[in-house]
Amino acid sequence: MTTPQTFDVLVLGGGPGGYVASIRAAQLGFSVACVEADATLGGTCVNVGCIPSKALLSSSEHFEWLRLHAAEHGIAADNVRVDLATMQARKTDVVLQNTKGVEFLFKKNKITWAKGFGTLLPNNVMEVRAHDGTVTHLQGTHVILATGSVPIQLPFLPFDERRVHSNVGALQLAEVPEHLIVIGGGVIGLELGSVWRRLGAKVTVVEFAPTILVGNDDDIVREADKIFRKQGLDIQLGTRVIGADVREDGVTVHCVQNEQTVSFDADHVLVSVGRKPTLHGIDAATLGLALGARGEILVDDQQRTNLPNVYAIGDVTGGKLLAHKAEEEGVIAAEVIAGKPVHMHQHTVPGIVYTWPEIATVGSTEAEVKASGRAYRTGKFPFSANGRARTMGETSGFVKFVVDAESDEILGCHMIGPNVGDLMAEVVLAMEYRGSAEDIAITVHSHPTLSETTKEAALAAIGRVLHM
Ligand SMILES: Cc1cc2nc3c(=O)[nH]c(=O)nc-3n(C[C@H](O)[C@H](O)[C@H](O)COP(=O)(O)OP(=O)(O)OC[C@H]3O[C@@H](n4cnc5c(N)ncnc54)[C@H](O)[C@@H]3O)c2cc1C
Repeated sequence: MTTPQTFDVLVLGGGPGGYVASIRAAQLGFSVACVEADATLGGTCVNVGCIPSKALLSSSEHFEWLRLHAAEHGIAADNVRVDLATMQARKTDVVLQNTKGVEFLFKKNKITWAKGFGTLLPNNVMEVRAHDGTVTHLQGTHVILATGSVPIQLPFLPFDERRVHSNVGALQLAEVPEHLIVIGGGVIGLELGSVWRRLGAKVTVVEFAPTILVGNDDDIVREADKIFRKQGLDIQLGTRVIGADVREDGVTVHCVQNEQTVSFDADHVLVSVGRKPTLHGIDAATLGLALGARGEILVDDQQRTNLPNVYAIGDVTGGKLLAHKAEEEGVIAAEVIAGKPVHMHQHTVPGIVYTWPEIATVGSTEAEVKASGRAYRTGKFPFSANGRARTMGETSGFVKFVVDAESDEILGCHMIGPNVGDLMAEVVLAMEYRGSAEDIAITVHSHPTLSETTKEAALAAIGRVLHM
């Protein structure tokens, strides 16, 4: 073993969890090294997740808007066509701006990027193997594990990124597929399915469960299903994929639906059936690191693992696999190391689906509150009754609150509609302070804004809706 270079904080993984933990730890005065094997910083989110998918979602939204809605605004946009190579090049450039941005922040905060594959050894020592084979060792007083997650493969349909894609290949297609089968009607499947549908592909979403977006509020799921079908997604629910034939020019996917065998032919398949924690470089059994049933690293609400001075954050800890959760857990871990009395609030982590309309959700669904036996009320307001939404021509969807029957405390909020990913921020803030529907209802909201829908839904929850 080489003589280890020592740091106060050693972070394994440079995704949103690891890079934000590194920045916060450096701000708190610690010496920090972050071990990242990829050629760029930013992890799944920046390289092959949130950022490239949102770039393509934005581009394809513009295309669809021009095609379907420009005329009603008096804008003639005839012969609108897609130049996919330019769209993909723009996406790559957006990713580059973000990875370079993280690199700049590392330099600014004097964080050492240890480039290479890290393996955690006992006593908080990390072996780092660079791409040229050089091996060095680092030692941290504290270690933060942020190794992320990887997509789950179907055993009979392994990713080849040629015909059978994970998120990586599905973001890089050089041609619009004629027919894309999306296996899994969750967030990633619906977002990427929407991109390729808007660009001209026939898209079939095959979902094992009886609904898309399993785990979301029932009203939201019903509305989303209706809207996505109207947009042209072919959604096959209660359909179990049992096998597939992959050919040079396409794939046939075999399924069971209503106890009958059905098959779908397509030129490309996206398998988006979930992600699982990755423990690359972490031999949990040898280290004595405690894992949960799904292979996730078990942590408390201060991100501590069962090993002394070893913390874990982000997707590798399971729960909601979201970048902003990973980031906040990174901040918590760094601050706990600095002795601050902070705790992670999982209940107020929002989730967004960046389809159009968007879907945003935080806290408990109505079904969850009902099942808990707690007395509750709901308040709902549609975007069709909001002035700003009408000016935009974006009137589908609604905001729904679930509140405690006596105190009005907000227990959950569920939105589907234009820009609801941004509208959700005020509700999350209110919930952080255990706010009530009345707190939002008596707050002045600018007119005309989409945010008035949130205010009206809060008013509805306390029986005082104004514009309905
Ligand atoms: C298509 C898609 C779209 C998404 N969209 C969104 C979205 O809009 N909003 C959102 O909140 N979330 C989104 N996500 C989820 C989000 O990307 C993840 O939740 C987030 O990246 C998790 O961050 P992380 O730091 O825990 O892990 P990761 O981002 O996975 O980063 C882990 C890093 O650790 C490195 N690493 C692992 N092991 C080692 C090792 N042994 N040595 C060195 N390096 C190692 C990896 O190379 C990687 O860079 C999306 C995901 C996908 C796939």
